[in-house]
Amino acid sequence: MTNTETQSILVVGSGMSGITAAIEAAEAGYDVYIVEKNPYLGGRVAQLHHYFPKLCPPFCGLEINFRRIKQNPRIRFFTMAEVESISGEEGNFDVTIKLNPRYVNEKCTACGKCAEACSIEIENPFNYGMNTMKAAYLPHDMAFPMRYVLDPALVRSEEAQKVKEACPYDAVELDMAPKTMSLKVGSIVWATGWKPYDANKLETYGFGEFPDVITNVMMERMASWTGPTQGKILCPSDGEVPQSVAFIQCAGSRDENHLPFCSGICCLASMKQATYVREQYPDAKIYIFFIDIRATDRLEDFYTKVKGDENIQFFKGKVAKITQEENGKGLVLRVEDTTTEALQEITVDMAVLATGMQPNTSDAPLPIDVPYDDYGFLASQNPKPGIYAAGCTRVPTGVSESVQDGTAAALKAIQSIVRR
Ligand SMILES: Cc1cc2nc3c(=O)[nH]c(=O)nc-3n(C[C@H](O)[C@H](O)[C@H](O)COP(=O)(O)OP(=O)(O)OC[C@H]3O[C@@H](n4cnc5c(N)ncnc54)[C@H](O)[C@@H]3O)c2cc1C
Repeated sequence: MTNTETQSILVVGSGMSGITAAIEAAEAGYDVYIVEKNPYLGGRVAQLHHYFPKLCPPFCGLEINFRRIKQNPRIRFFTMAEVESISGEEGNFDVTIKLNPRYVNEKCTACGKCAEACSIEIENPFNYGMNTMKAAYLPHDMAFPMRYVLDPALVRSEEAQKVKEACPYDAVELDMAPKTMSLKVGSIVWATGWKPYDANKLETYGFGEFPDVITNVMMERMASWTGPTQGKILCPSDGEVPQSVAFIQCAGSRDENHLPFCSGICCLASMKQATYVREQYPDAKIYIFFIDIRATDRLEDFYTKVKGDENIQFFKGKVAKITQEENGKGLVLRVEDTTTEALQEITVDMAVLATGMQPNTSDAPLPIDVPYDDYGFLASQNPKPGIYAAGCTRVPTGVSESVQDGTAAALKAIQSIVRR
């Protein structure tokens, strides 16, 4: 091998699986480029309140990884970036990357003066649209890199110049334009992960119509101190404390009309979220409506513990429909108890739809021909020589499995370079 550029590895996506692959490969002595679509690294885990099995805040794990990235000159990362094309073969790929403008350069100290000068508000995507934020924003409180972003709506507005002048560090660049960059790499790890299944497609559950019907990812943000309610779990309709909360499993999952597969994580996620509710409201009544409970490996213990709470009722039955009380704000859940075959109506203050994980590759495929399974996941760990899939781009899975998968992909990506 003479060309040192092709000794490099490209990692696309910086969730748990991607950052793990990047760090492991770099610490083994290989140059790595990370390409991340968001303005920050960390993927969906950064949006969780706590994560099982230990129920610690995700930044415990993420911070360690960010430190390893900062300390390693072999890793270069590009945020707000996407891969436009891939050509070539194992050991010698040509890749073009599109870098979208952040309108804020590396001189930014995150002082927030730009946000103070800005009056335009936009939806906050980090909080799944549950609140708004200034159009000059830090993506979230623990963002890495800790650097502001300007929304294009602000850049195009009359306020842009005022926001630029408010920056004491000359970090705002209103004329920043999209750029294209070429890379040569020896192998590629694809780790673009998942997105929540769109709850608007679940017509019978009233998501979008009844404000107190939320999704599991929204619950994670609501429970987080950095979330839209500063960590208080409250009914979105009136800001009141919910006296009863229902978790509706398989909301769109294992359903031929939606996601036919099981994401394998939603049961545990709802049990975890039941503990969020319990911590805040010791007397709240909690229901978990399920078809089958899937709690794998050591997490069976967690299931047993949650089941021991007398105010958490596991209810075997799939909720058919959610309506709202005629003279009240309660949500009425229609469900058949499959153990007795009795049809029941149960009224709660808040319902959480446990929507599944849809692979991002299902509507944003790789810019090179690779095989997918019926649901849009990459069909194997090695879909093409020199290209490796890691984490939820391959299979819906939890964090520890994503870390294992990322490590495995790093080894395979190194082998693609070394054996040539
Ligand atoms: C409600 C809920 C709660 C959960 N709680 C837990 C828990 O407590 N414990 C646990 O172990 N697991 C939990 N999970 C699962 C956990 O979120 C996943 O295991 C984890 O996110 C997988 O990481 P990943 O790197 O594969 O994907 P992701 O986290 O999705 O990361 C993918 C990254 O790729 C980026 N990307 C996407 N497309 C592109 C592109 N085209 N170009 C460049 N970058 C791109 C994304 O912006 C993202 O940063 C939960 C899941 C849900 C639904």
